[in-house]
Amino acid sequence: MTYPDAGAVGYAADGVWNDETDWEIAALEGDVEGYEHVPMPTVAVVGRPNVGKSTLVNRILGRREAVVEDVPGVTRDRVSYEASWAGRRFLVQDTGGWEPDAKGLQQSVARQAELAMRTADAILLVVDVTTGATATDEAAVRVLRRSKTPVVLVVNKVDGEKLEAEAASLWSLGLGEPHMVSAAHGRGTGDLLDVVLEALPETPREDVAAPGSGPRRVALVGKPNVGKSSLLNKLAGDERSVVHDVAGTTVDPVDSLVELGGKPWRFVDTAGLRRKVANASGTEFYASLRTKSAIEAAEVAVMLIDASQPITEQDLRVISMVADAGRALVLAYNKWDLVDEDRREQLEREIDREMVQVPWAQRVNISAHTGRAVQKLVPAMETALESWDKRISTGRLNTWLKEVVAATPPPMRGGRLPRVLFVTQATTRPPTFVLFTTGFLEAGYRRFLERRLREEFGFDGSPVRISVRVREKRDRRKK
Ligand code: GDP
Ligand code: GDP
Repeated sequence: MTYPDAGAVGYAADGVWNDETDWEIAALEGDVEGYEHVPMPTVAVVGRPNVGKSTLVNRILGRREAVVEDVPGVTRDRVSYEASWAGRRFLVQDTGGWEPDAKGLQQSVARQAELAMRTADAILLVVDVTTGATATDEAAVRVLRRSKTPVVLVVNKVDGEKLEAEAASLWSLGLGEPHMVSAAHGRGTGDLLDVVLEALPETPREDVAAPGSGPRRVALVGKPNVGKSSLLNKLAGDERSVVHDVAGTTVDPVDSLVELGGKPWRFVDTAGLRRKVANASGTEFYASLRTKSAIEAAEVAVMLIDASQPITEQDLRVISMVADAGRALVLAYNKWDLVDEDRREQLEREIDREMVQVPWAQRVNISAHTGRAVQKLVPAMETALESWDKRISTGRLNTWLKEVVAATPPPMRGGRLPRVLFVTQATTRPPTFVLFTTGFLEAGYRRFLERRLREEFGFDGSPVRISVRVREKRDRRKK
């Protein structure tokens, strides 16, 4: 049985019109279309803790529930929500979760601003009128003054007219007009959104995760001393091929182009790897922000783990970052030359216990020191990227879904059996699926579906995301 592909969903899902369910599927048409690869511009909300970023984000969302993005088991520190204003849809990215100690604060807020400059289409810098501009705000301002991405200065907590003069004094920050709002009360937020829409480009900037024509981007990540720079040197040295020019590409000076397996790869943020001394003096938090920014800039992360030492929390945190960012992943167990029989057995047990988060990641055992198996990294990266780019047709997905759900229906909730109506792949990079259902699906069942999806279609090396859209009950025979 064949189904029409994405784009035409107002049909009977099994080819025969069934009054019980198919009206609902037909009614999904509008919703599903909304999910078909519409690139949306991103507004990043940055600022130090407690200025009211989250309150502002909630205000912008107007409590409308946004895309339900389920990435089980990981803590997220940047979350994007879908919002709309005056008929335009955009993503709001909340960076509210970053709360380092006071010492790291200035660095972290500045770094956050830098990241937003690289990835967002507009930036809202939020400051608090009740405290005025602090040193941390000024650190962010210094970064944002050289931003090519439009920046809108938001002065929050202007709950009444009395505070307006104080707010106006923030013209002095040199970021243009301070837009006064009270996120808590909604004062001024409509005007602010008008300004934001004005600043947003029609089409989003080329997404890092969007198909590009240049070399594929790789981040070498892992905790200090796992061998990242040794590996880069080995890869670059072996092929004597650090390239500086590939027709039609401009290389960020912090990146390295290396030819491997006959084609150039862009290793991102390698300047950070080389700048050992600077790194060593930074806090662990700062190092972690660097890692985050490298991952964001990459399409695939090669995560190094020191195979000669027990797997640590810190290793797992970096893995979470990759999965969280939705990047393809290759696990490289390095220093294999130091691994003896005993350690090897221990390691296998550690992997079974600790690596449950990313059972889909591919594994390569290497030695950056001797060069053992480093050539296996290229096919692993290629497979991971293929999975990351993969698109499954709506027809195939729904044939699969029907079989799986018929064999193993979701558990009852509140005495009702939620029905799973339809699935479509909304995006690639990473593959993201939207399930339309009549009721909440438990995390266990969502994981089950992910497992079966992987078994059927194979997504080795790539995270996949499954969002659930619950259809609200509506009057069936309505007009
Ligand atoms: P974030 O850390 O920047 O995300 O800040 P939050 O959104 O968590 O807000 C920090 C505190 O400021 C909370 O106690 C909010 O209730 C308060 N707050 C946020 N917006 C306003 C506002 O417009 N006026 C006042 N008076 N308080 C606000
Ligand atoms: P980075 O901090 O992750 O960039 O790690 P480095 O590349 O600086 O490596 C840290 C230390 O581990 C150095 O002393 C390297 O010589 C050593 N090292 C890196 N890879 C290997 C390896 O495969 N085997 C052994 N025995 N040592 C290694």
